[in-house]
Amino acid sequence: MTELTLFNSLTRQLEPFRPVHAGEARVYSCGPTVYNYPHIGNMRAYVFADLLGRTLSWRGYKLTHVINITDVGHLTDDADQGEDKMERIAARRAQSIWDIARHYTEAYWTDIQALNIRQPTHWSIATDYIDAMIDFARSIEERHCYRLESGLYFDVSTVADYGRLARAQTDEGEGRIEAVAGKRNAADFAIWRTTPAGERRQMEWDSPWGRGAPGWHLECSVMSGKLLGFPFDIHTGGIDHREIHHPNEIAQNQAFCGCGSLSEAANSGARMWLHNNFLVERGGKMSKSSGEFLRVPLLVERGYHPLAYRLLCLQAHYRSELEFSWDALGAALTRLKRLVMSVAALRERAPDAGWRGWMRAEALAQDWGKLQPLVERFDAALADDLGTPIALTALEDVLAAKKVDPALKLAAAAAMDSVLGLNLGSLTRGDLRLRPASATIAEAEIDALLDRRRQARTAKDFATSDTLRDELAASGVEVMDGDPLGWEWRL
Ligand code: AMP
Ligand code: ZN
Repeated sequence: MTELTLFNSLTRQLEPFRPVHAGEARVYSCGPTVYNYPHIGNMRAYVFADLLGRTLSWRGYKLTHVINITDVGHLTDDADQGEDKMERIAARRAQSIWDIARHYTEAYWTDIQALNIRQPTHWSIATDYIDAMIDFARSIEERHCYRLESGLYFDVSTVADYGRLARAQTDEGEGRIEAVAGKRNAADFAIWRTTPAGERRQMEWDSPWGRGAPGWHLECSVMSGKLLGFPFDIHTGGIDHREIHHPNEIAQNQAFCGCGSLSEAANSGARMWLHNNFLVERGGKMSKSSGEFLRVPLLVERGYHPLAYRLLCLQAHYRSELEFSWDALGAALTRLKRLVMSVAALRERAPDAGWRGWMRAEALAQDWGKLQPLVERFDAALADDLGTPIALTALEDVLAAKKVDPALKLAAAAAMDSVLGLNLGSLTRGDLRLRPASATIAEAEIDALLDRRRQARTAKDFATSDTLRDELAASGVEVMDGDPLGWEWRL
C-alpha cells in the first residue's frame, strides 16, 4: 500500500499524509489579490492546488478546499508596508474598488475554468469576514498585540519559533523590513490598519482600533480557521509566501490557539504547509507590470489551448522552478495533441467504452492485465509528493501499449485523467486548433487552396503545388505534409 507523502515546508521533509479527521482532507490555498489580472505564474499556484485536491479525492478523502479572494488588505509590500494594492489602483483609475474587485475576480474565475481547475468547496471573499477578523484580533490583542497610531500590531516575540517556516535569520529578516516608528520588533506586522486622521478609504470599517482595514495576513488565519477549523490538514501557496505571509499567519494561529512551540506542526494551524515553486521568464521573475503580460487569454490569442499550459505545469514537479517559453508551450501543445489523438483513435476502436471519473480504490480493485504495472507506476508517482512528470509517462505508456483491449486502455486513461485533469475525455483535435488572433485568412479559403494543391499533386503538377504552398505561406499558413499527427496545416 503506497502511502501519500508530501513535502512539508515547515519541517523541510517528506511526510506521510495523516488526516486530522479520519477520511477527510481539509485544504486552504491562498488566493489572488484582485487588483489586476492573474498572470500564468499565479495560475501555476492553482494548477498545483487543484492537482493536490484531485490527488486527495483520488485517494478517497472527502475534500474540503477553500480558496480566498483578497479584495482588501494586501499592501504593495508583503511585509505590510506601503499602500493597499486595491485602494491604490482604485484611486489611480477613479473607479470603485468594489467594481475593480468584481472585474478581476471574474477574470480569475474564467482562467480557473479554462485550466480545468475544479471549483473549491468555498471561495471565501475577505470582505465578507471583517467581523470575524475583528473578533479574532480582539481575542489575541491583550497577550500578543500593541497599538500604535497607525494601527494594531502583532508582537512576534510573543510566540515561540517565529519565522521557523522561512528559516529566517533574524538579521536578514530585519534588513528586509522597513521600520515603522514605535514597532517593538522589525518583523512585527499590522493586524489592523487605522485610517489616518483626515483621510478616507473606500474600504473601511469601524473597529475597537478606529475606522480602518484589516491586515492581509489576518484574513487567511480567520477564513482558514473558520471554514476548516484549527488544525486543518494542508495550507498551500506559492513559494514567496513561505517568507513572510505564512510565517505571519502561523504566528497569529499560534496566538489564537494558545499553542506553544512549532515542534508540533499542528500548532501552526495546519499540519502541513506546501509551496509551489515559481514559473519564471528567461529574464527572471514574472511580473504583471514589466514586459509581456503573460495571461491565459494571451496564450489563446496566440493559438495555444489553455490546457497545453496545464500540461506544461504538470510536466515539471511542482517544487521545481519552471521556465516559461513559447517553444516549451508549443512542445506541450504537441504532446497534448498526441494524447488527444490517441484517445480518439481508441474510441473509434471501442465506441461503446465510456469515460468517467475514477477513484483509486476501484482502480486498485480492477484487473488491468498487461496495464497493471502502469497503473501502479502512476499511483506510486503521485504518492511520491505528486510526481506528475512520471505519472504522465505512465499515461503515455498505457496509450501506446500493444495488444491490449482498447476499452481497457480507455478505462486506465480515464482513471489517470481524473487526477491529471487534461480533459482527455472531451477534448477534440478541433478544440486544440485555435486560430491566433493575428491570422487573417479564413478557414474556408485555406481548405480551398489545399484542395487545389491536392489536385495538382495528383496530376503531378508540382510547380502549381509549390506555388500554392507559397501562397499559403504568405498568408501565414504552414502546410504540414506527412505530419505524424495528421495535421494538414497550421497558422
Ligand atoms: P497574488 O495574487 O500575487 O497574491 O498571487 C497569487 C498566488 O500566485 C500566490 O500563491 C503566489 O505565491 C503565487 N505566485 C505568484 N507569482 C508566481 C509565479 N511566478 N509562479 C508561481 N506562483 C506564483
Ligand atoms: Zn493567504
